[in-house]
Parts: sequence; C-alpha cells; structure tokens
Amino acid sequence: MIKRVGNKECTLCPLSEKRTQVVQNIVNTDAEIAFIGMMPGTNEDLEGSPFVGRAGKTLKSAIKKASYNPESCSFLNCCLCIHPDNVLTRENYRLCKYNLTESISNMPNLKLLVGLGNDVYKCVMDIGTVTMKNVYLKTFPHKEFSMDFVPIPHPASTLYNPTAKVIAYFEDGVSGAINLLRANKKIEKVKKFISILTSDKLEKALSILDKQSILSVDTETTSLKPHLAEMICISFSFEDRTAISFPWKWGKEKLEFYWNEEERGLIESYFRKFFLSHNKAFISHNNKYDSQIIHKEFGFPIENIRCDTMLLSHLLDSNQPAGLEAVVIREMPENTLGYKSDFWSNITEAEKERGDWWKKKTLEEILDYCAEDTSNTFEVAKIYLRRLNDIH
Ligand code: URA
Repeated sequence: MIKRVGNKECTLCPLSEKRTQVVQNIVNTDAEIAFIGMMPGTNEDLEGSPFVGRAGKTLKSAIKKASYNPESCSFLNCCLCIHPDNVLTRENYRLCKYNLTESISNMPNLKLLVGLGNDVYKCVMDIGTVTMKNVYLKTFPHKEFSMDFVPIPHPASTLYNPTAKVIAYFEDGVSGAINLLRANKKIEKVKKFISILTSDKLEKALSILDKQSILSVDTETTSLKPHLAEMICISFSFEDRTAISFPWKWGKEKLEFYWNEEERGLIESYFRKFFLSHNKAFISHNNKYDSQIIHKEFGFPIENIRCDTMLLSHLLDSNQPAGLEAVVIREMPENTLGYKSDFWSNITEAEKERGDWWKKKTLEEILDYCAEDTSNTFEVAKIYLRRLNDIH
C-alpha cells in the first residue's frame, strides 16, 4: 500500500513561508528499502510529490538498472519543504525529523535506509564532516531507527557533473545498496553462529568439532602484537555461515580465565588433538599469528594448517590487499555488510594500541565477530582452492 506521510500544515520552521506546499514522503508500506534525499526541489514543490524532477528520474532509472522495481521502494526526504538555496541544515533536519520517523514506522519490513549525498549522511547519522569516498556503500547501524543506513552519492551529482565516472559512481552506489539488501536477506536465513558459554555444552561442542576433518580457526585477541596479546576467544567453522565460538579470557576491568581449571583441562586436551593431529586439516587467515597465540595460551602451535587464506590471496594476486576484510569484499561481497567497520567503529586507534578496546564491547559481540571471521575464512578457502584447481 502506498501512503503519503508528512504534516501538511507544519509551520515549525521559516521554510514553511516559502513553500508552495509540504511535499509528503511516498511510503510503500511493504518496502524493504527506502531512499532518503535532502528536500524537495522546484518540480517537487510545484507537483507535491518527492523525486519527480530530473534527480528523481535519475534515481529511479538507476534502481531499474539494478533490476529492482522503484515501485517497491519508498522515497523520503530529510526535510519536506523546498529551501531557496537547496541546502540541508541540521536545524532543518531536527525540526522535520518527526515526519521521517513517522514514515519509517509505517514500513514494518524495512531493512535498509539509503542516504543520498553527504548532507543526508551527516544529518541522519549525526556526524560532523565526512567525504563520500570514506563512507560510500558502508553500512552504519542507526540506533534510533533500528536499521542499517548506507550512504551513496545524491543523484543530482550526475546532473552537475555528467561524466561517465560520476554517473558510474552513482549507479554503482544504487546497485551496491540493492545488493546489500539482497545479501542481507540471504544471510539472515542461514547464519548459524553458536557461542558456548556454559560448561554443560562444552564437551558436546568439542566432540562435534572433533568429528570434522576440515575446519577453519580464528582467534580474537587484545592486541595484534603476539607478545602482548591475550586471547579473548576462539572460533571454528566447518560449514558455510556456521561457526562455534568459545570464550577463553574475559572480565570487566581485567581479563581472567572464563573457564575453571577442570574445564580448561578439557579444552586443552581437545585442542592438543585438534591442532597436532594429522587426520585434520586447518584453514586460517594468517596462521603465523593464530599459531603464536595458541602456542602462548596452550603451549603448542597449530601444526596442521593446510591452507592459509592470507598467503593464498597474496599468491593468487599480489597486487590486491590480503587482509580478511578486503578478501571478503572481493570474493564474497554478499557476506560483507560492513560487519568489520561496524565492529571497530566505536574503537579508537589508541585503544587498539593499548590493547583495552575490548572493554567497549560485550563478550557476545566479540564471539559473534570472531564467528563471522572464521566462517568467512572457511568460505574464502573453498573459493581459492577451486581457483587454484582451475589454474593447474
Ligand atoms: N532531491 C531530493 O533530495 N529530494 C527530492 O525529493 C528531489 C530531489
């Protein structure tokens, strides 16, 4: 159902004196994706509908080009009145926000908000200065709307500067956002990340892992310097979008062992079998690091790594960055969804350097993050091994 949402009589700000009419948002109540612009332009102000001018037509044709139906989308603005200088200020946004909030609350299936242009990003995410290239197609969780927000350029950028490069940047932004929505749906359906937090589940989980012959492994640690790092948790994956994670050290102010002595003994005896057994093959992304951590925490290294996806990435294309995030973005963009940038977004470089960044996170968040990295490593390994097979 299409609803028009916005207070037609609003006089909260001086823009109400200059408008022909309030341009209500077009809200498709079934929409999973909503595009948010700045404010109506001249055509919109005259016709009383958002995105009916040249910028709106450019946006809708890019949506069609991405094989999505513009009629399934919602078209919203941060401010519902025309501005004589076509600028969006924080004050305009603050006073008009109740219309955006009401529009969003009318879309129970909404999964993604797509912000058009820098000013929309700055107002909606309440952030200072920003350049589009730093936030382009990244997902940012919007707390108040309980929704992911992704910035792309405004369609008007292609009208001011209609070069092939600017047009491609905009159109790739629209199709990238729509692909994020499609991937999001896929991931929601199948993700199975299990955290083992209680003693009664420990032995069962370890014995499930013991039955697998090929597993990926990843650790989450306080620091990237192995001699300073303490292991917070470890995850294993043996199936796509699946991982089992175990905490190892946790605390509020200071890290302490999560498990008691007996439980640690059980974990260590399984890990000794896992990492030294020649009947098992481990996959990791930068094993040199994880192996040093395991050695430090348990007294033995990971001896049976058969596939290091970081080294494979370098081997297959040494011109490309080999970090896990870059590899996942290249090889499986549908798995990306900005989970890495989201996770680290509230952590400063100083906190990482000091090794106390974990105080800003919950144990569950870190376990989930580790699970995501581990299952992505498992999937990347399959892609790389297939490619190597094709080469030889
Ligand atoms: N640009 C916007 O940001 N919104 C509209 O409604 C039209 C053009």
